[in-house]
Amino acid sequence: MTLRETVGLRKIRRERMWIWFWVISYLPVVLIVRGATHSHQADGPVTFIWIAAFLGTLSRVIFSRCPHCGGLFFSTDKAVRVRYLFTGKCMQCGQPLKAERVMYPSLE
Ligand SMILES: [Zn+2]
Repeated sequence: MTLRETVGLRKIRRERMWIWFWVISYLPVVLIVRGATHSHQADGPVTFIWIAAFLGTLSRVIFSRCPHCGGLFFSTDKAVRVRYLFTGKCMQCGQPLKAERVMYPSLE
């Protein structure tokens, strides 16, 4: 595995972790803003910003390119799919997302 592939796979993993960050952080952020402003009027802008950030992160993950084969990492063909978003390997060439943790590549 080349350095470019290692960096590319690390980037995909990091982007995918951001999806969980946005999902987990929504409710605490809304509650903090409500506590700070003592009103529900800030819920709309906070939700709008959250949705924009979540969709931006989601689109970056969906359109991630495999550093090994160059295809869409989470798609079985050239069409964009959400179905395999949390799979652990490239859906086109089988490159594991955590390739540096594979001790015996022939068994993968
Ligand atoms: Zn691939």
